[in-house]
Amino acid sequence: MALPDEELGISYLIVGAGVFGVSTAFHLKRSKPWATVVLVDRYLYPNPSAASFDLNKIIRADYHDIFYMKLALQAMEAWNSDPLYKPFYHETGILFAENVGKGAVFLDNYRRLGQETQAESLDVDEVRQRFPCFQHANWTGVTRAYYNPRSGWGEAVPALGALLQAAIDIGVVYEPTTVAKVCLETAALTGQLLPRCVGIETAEGRVLRADHVILCTGAATAKLLADSAPNDPTLHVGDRLVAAAALSCKVRVDPEKWPLYRDAPVFANLMSHTSGEAIPLTPEGGFIKVNHELSFTHMIYHSASNTHFSSPPDSVKHSCWAEDVPQVLKEEAMKVLRGTYGPYMEDFQPESYRMCWDVVTKNQGWIISPHDACENLYVAAGGSFHAWKFLPILGEYVVAMLDGTLDEESVNRWSWYSIADSAGACESYAPRRDLKDILQTEKVKARV
Ligand SMILES: Cc1cc2nc3c(=O)[nH]c(=O)nc-3n(C[C@H](O)[C@H](O)[C@H](O)COP(=O)(O)OP(=O)(O)OC[C@H]3O[C@@H](n4cnc5c(N)ncnc54)[C@H](O)[C@@H]3O)c2cc1C
Repeated sequence: MALPDEELGISYLIVGAGVFGVSTAFHLKRSKPWATVVLVDRYLYPNPSAASFDLNKIIRADYHDIFYMKLALQAMEAWNSDPLYKPFYHETGILFAENVGKGAVFLDNYRRLGQETQAESLDVDEVRQRFPCFQHANWTGVTRAYYNPRSGWGEAVPALGALLQAAIDIGVVYEPTTVAKVCLETAALTGQLLPRCVGIETAEGRVLRADHVILCTGAATAKLLADSAPNDPTLHVGDRLVAAAALSCKVRVDPEKWPLYRDAPVFANLMSHTSGEAIPLTPEGGFIKVNHELSFTHMIYHSASNTHFSSPPDSVKHSCWAEDVPQVLKEEAMKVLRGTYGPYMEDFQPESYRMCWDVVTKNQGWIISPHDACENLYVAAGGSFHAWKFLPILGEYVVAMLDGTLDEESVNRWSWYSIADSAGACESYAPRRDLKDILQTEKVKARV
């Protein structure tokens, strides 16, 4: 095949080896074997503070935003049948307890898409009988539950690691290094309207040049752009991408008790008395993970740019699995365990907790877009607490964006200047407080 001149020797540099970056590297190299594709991350895989690093993640197509349901169905096909992903997918089913009609919308969306589904609306007594480990859950306020046996969860680190290895096997170059800033040539220098990105500079001062730089930097995106162009606010993220964390808690279950939990589905009890979800027993180690939905920011002052934005704290205990998190957050994890398992939570020993940092957009949709204020710079981020399950397909859409072949709806949904007004893909996780407030409450409690 003869390549057009502009494709000869073309190079792409992807910053960030989470689900956005790894999926992009894989699909980019697969679709353009002639291109140089370099993927850089702060760590040799895996990075324990990345949102994509986890014990497990929920995989489901049950979305009330039909746009994301369609995409999730595409991803589910890969989880169900592609040998690259299938070994890491556990189809345990998913159960929702809620009283705002989400289940009815899910069912209606499947119908509108002409998609066969085994999902059903269940009476609470029936759920209690079918899933004995949830018989003492807090069902207050729930009239009917929603159950889909065709959803489940994925093993986060091995699945992403397998895709990274597959990317390396086809020629992606992986470089563990911290990017200090993206290298920009000013508009005055290039004679163009916009500045141009020509590569990145590492923390050690090394410059890696590339024709196209794609930021898949998750929660670190705001700081990286502010560090790169402190005096040019048009390059900053503004309120498009806000770093936010939610608390996860990992509990170990006594092996004698495993039979009660072994066949349980994922359970999302969205009622305010619980506000969280539980991912069932891992076959190895016997861990259950719960998340509490009420997320929080970490606002900082960035002196070089004289701006404020949310950015994950540097300390390991505030971003990786740790025993030492504020008591307020531990109590919230207990609330989820109590609302999910009732007295059965006595069977569990909390092993560790984690403030897991993702980056959230206003409507919890993603940004997969050229940076509108800079040539050759692109952003693929905005996981908004629900992007992990799309690992098999995210990169296909990033490649389409780079090639200018994204369909119109996706362009509108994911543009840097998002113009789509969507229903909110994961609104229960929208941040409503700051880590400083949590630490302050902790101090006040300690004084009382
Ligand atoms: C508590 C919690 C639970 C979740 N549960 C689910 C779930 O059940 N199902 C689901 O589908 N989704 C879930 N998500 C969402 C999902 O995990 C994220 O949306 C997704 O992992 C984000 O991926 P990412 O690639 O954008 O970011 P990340 O995974 O954070 O990756 C970004 C990478 O960029 C690198 N990086 C950043 N800056 C630099 C730099 N300057 N130099 C070099 N490297 C850099 C980082 O080291 C990191 O590895 C959850 C999220 C959270 C927080």
